[in-house]
Amino acid sequence: MVPEKDLIPQADHLTVFFASQTGNAESISRNLHEQAMERGFKSAHYMLNDHAKVDWEKEKCLVFVVSTTGDGDPPDNSTKFWRHLRKLKGVGLTKAKYAILGLGDTNYDNFCQTAKRLDTRLQELGATSFYPRGLADDATGLEETVDPWIKNLWPALAHQVICAPMIHDLPQPHLSAEEEKVVKELIHQHDLEPHVSPAVSASPKKVNATDSMVKGGFVPLAAATTTTATTRPPALGSSSISNLSKGMETLAVKEKEVIPVVPATGYKVEVDFSSMANHANLTALPRVPNANLKITDVTADNTTATKSATAGSIPSFIQTPTPLLSAKINNVQCLTPEDALKRTLSVEFGFEDDVDYAPGDAFGIWAPNDEATVLGVLAALGVKEEEYQKQVKLEGEGIPSHLQPVQSATLLDIFRYSVDLTTTPKKANIRLYGDHATDLVEKQKLMFMASKQGAEVFNAFRAQGPSFLDILKTFPSIKLPVSRVIETLPPMQPRYYSITSSPMAKNGHRRWACAFNVVEYELPEGVKRRGVCTPWLDELVGKVPFGASVANPTKTRVPMFLKPNETRFNLPTDTLKPVIMIGPGTGVAPFMGFLEHRSEQRRIKKRLVNIGTGPRQHLDDHFGDMWLFFGCRHRERDWLFRKEMETYKQEGVLTELQLAVSREENVPNSGKYVQDLIKKEGARLWKLLDKKQALIYVCGDAKGMAKSVHDELVNVLVEHGGFEKMAAMMELNKWAQEKRYLRDLWA
Ligand code: NAP
Repeated sequence: MVPEKDLIPQADHLTVFFASQTGNAESISRNLHEQAMERGFKSAHYMLNDHAKVDWEKEKCLVFVVSTTGDGDPPDNSTKFWRHLRKLKGVGLTKAKYAILGLGDTNYDNFCQTAKRLDTRLQELGATSFYPRGLADDATGLEETVDPWIKNLWPALAHQVICAPMIHDLPQPHLSAEEEKVVKELIHQHDLEPHVSPAVSASPKKVNATDSMVKGGFVPLAAATTTTATTRPPALGSSSISNLSKGMETLAVKEKEVIPVVPATGYKVEVDFSSMANHANLTALPRVPNANLKITDVTADNTTATKSATAGSIPSFIQTPTPLLSAKINNVQCLTPEDALKRTLSVEFGFEDDVDYAPGDAFGIWAPNDEATVLGVLAALGVKEEEYQKQVKLEGEGIPSHLQPVQSATLLDIFRYSVDLTTTPKKANIRLYGDHATDLVEKQKLMFMASKQGAEVFNAFRAQGPSFLDILKTFPSIKLPVSRVIETLPPMQPRYYSITSSPMAKNGHRRWACAFNVVEYELPEGVKRRGVCTPWLDELVGKVPFGASVANPTKTRVPMFLKPNETRFNLPTDTLKPVIMIGPGTGVAPFMGFLEHRSEQRRIKKRLVNIGTGPRQHLDDHFGDMWLFFGCRHRERDWLFRKEMETYKQEGVLTELQLAVSREENVPNSGKYVQDLIKKEGARLWKLLDKKQALIYVCGDAKGMAKSVHDELVNVLVEHGGFEKMAAMMELNKWAQEKRYLRDLWA
C-alpha cells in the first residue's frame, strides 16, 4: 500500500530557501531557483529569516540550501528562523516534502551541522524528505557535490511539483554546440603558451569562428579583436544616508579621500595552461547566473539622496544584525615587536552612549575595501572618474539580498562596502569572465579553467588567491558591464573580534577593546596579500610601533556592531564555579575580558566586605579557580597581554597560568602547545572537573588547535577519570550540550 504521505497531490510550486554566511549558499540557491523557472517550474526564493513571508502549513515542496559557520552554527541570516522553528510544536508540516543541500567544510568539527539539524527538525514537525540530503564539502570543492545534487534534483522535483509545459528550450548547462566547436578549433589551432599575441587570435579563420559565437552569448568579433570596444556601465546616479546611527557623519572614508590614492593594478597570475591542448571537449561548465541587476541613475531624485556618502559617512545600505554604531578609537597599542611572526594590535573603541554587552561577546567591523583596489577595479572596468560619485539605485527582480537595500549610493561606495573584492572568484564567475573576454586565447583559458577538464589548472590558479583585480590584470580583455560585476561578486562580510574588556570596568559600557593580528603576508611567488579590516585599521591609527600606546590616534569613526555570543560562551553567574580557559594566540582575547570582569567582581566584593560589619572573609572564598592555558611562539615576541596576565596572577584573579611556548627550547614548566600542558596537568584538571564541575572554555583556531585540545581532554577523562575512550567522548559531548564545555572557534 502506498503510504499516506506519498498520496499528497503535486505542489503547484516549489519554494527555495537559503541560509548563507558568506554568500555561497545564497548564490547556489538563486541559481537553483533560476534554473527551476527556466525548466518551467513555478518557484519562489527566500532567505530563511524571511520565513514569515510563507505560509508553512500550506507549503508542499521546500528546497533548502544552508551553510554552516563557526563551530557548527547556523548563518546569521537564519537565526530568527531557528528561534521560530524551536517554538513550533506538534506536526504542523505534514503536507511538506523537502530536499536539503548543506554546505560545510570537513576541516572543521560539526560538518554541515545546520543541514543535519534542519533535516531532523523538519522530520519532527512531520515533513518528509523527497530527495537525499546533499552535504557539500568546501575542503574538496563544493561543486563536486552541488553540481550532481542539482542535476539529479530535477527528475525528483518533477514528481513533486507540477511543471508547466516549457515554452522554450532549456538553456545549455555547458557550452553550446557552436561554442564547443569554436573552442575545439581554437585548441587545435593555437599555440597555448601564456603569451599568445592578440594579433594571432584574429586570423581570418577565427573571424568566422568568432562570428558564429555571437548567438551563443559570446561577444562579437569587433569586440574580440580590439581593446577599445568595452561595455560601459550605464549612467550612474544618488545616496541616501538617512538612517545612520548617531555620530556616523564623520566615518572612515574621509581621511582617505584627502590623501590622493593611486589605483592598484593587481598581479598577473602565472599558471601553466599547456594541458589545455589535450582537451578538445570542455564539459560541466557552470551555469552563469541570470543578469537581473539594473543600475539606475537617481542623481536628480532629491527625495532619496540626502548627502553623499563620499563626504565621509557610511552608506545606509549596510545591513547589520544589531544596530550599526559609530565608534571612535580611544587608544591603540602594538603588542608585538618587529621580529615577531605576526603584528598584533590591541585597540580600544569608545562610544558616547552606553552599550550593553557581556565578556565573551564579539563585535563586527564593517571595513571598506582597500581604496587603491577599489579605484583600480573601477579603472579596469572602464568606469570614468566623473561617474564614481554619481548616485545610483540597484534594482531588479531577484537580485542578491545584500544589493536590495542599495536605493541611492555612489558607485564608489558600492565597491567599497558592498562587494567582496578579495576572495578568489568561483568557477561560475570564471565562466562569466570567459563569456566576456574579447581576446580568444584569454576566453579559451577562462573557459578551460571553468570546465571539468581544467580543474587542475583552476586549482593551481586558485592556490595563488587571485582577487578580482588580479583576474582583470591577468585577462585584460575581459569587458564586463559594471552591473554584472556587482551582482556576481560575493557580498562584503563584516570582520569579527572578541571583546577583551569588561563592562564592569571604569566606563566599561562605553568602551570595547580587542586584539587582532594584522593580516598581511607574501605568497611564495612574491605576491603580497592583505586582509580587508586589519590593515585598514593599522593604517588608520598610523602603524603604531611596538611598545607605544597612542591615545586618540585618529578622528575617523569606525562602523561596528555588537555580536552577542549565542552559545553561552560567557562567565558563569555562579562566581564559585571554576573556569578553565584554553586560548593560544589571539584566541586568548575573550579570556582577557573574563579576567578583567573577575578582577572587577573581586574589587567590588572586597569593598563591600570591608564596608560591612561582619568578620572579614577571605576574598578567594567567593570566587572559583580561574585557570588559563595560553600559547605563544617566543615569550619575548608574542606573549600577548603578558603584563596583564602576570598582574592577574599576582592578585589571585588567575589561580593558574600555564604557558606553552612553541618555538623556544627548554622553557621551564612548559610544553610546545596548550594541549601538551593539558596532558601534563591532567590529574589536577580532572580533580577540578570531577570534584568542582569546572567549566571548560576553548577559543581559537577551529582547524588544528581545537581538535587536538578536544582529543587531549578525552585522554584526561580516560587516564584520570577511568573512562573508556568512547565513553569519554560521549561525556564530553554531554558536557558540550550542558554548556559545561564551551567552544568559540574561528576559521
Ligand atoms: P597563532 O599566533 O598562529 O598561534 C599561537 C600559538 O599557537 C603559536 O605558538 C602556535 O605555534 C600555536 N599553534 C599552532 N598550531 C597549533 C595547534 N594545532 N594546536 C595548538 N597550538 C598551535 O595564533 P593566532 O593567529 O593569534 O590565532 C588564534 C586563533 O584565534 C585564530 O583562529 C583567530 O581567528 C582566533 N581568534 C581571534 C580572536 C580575535 O578577537 N582576534 C578572538 C577569538 C579567536 P606554531 O605556529 O609555532 O606552530
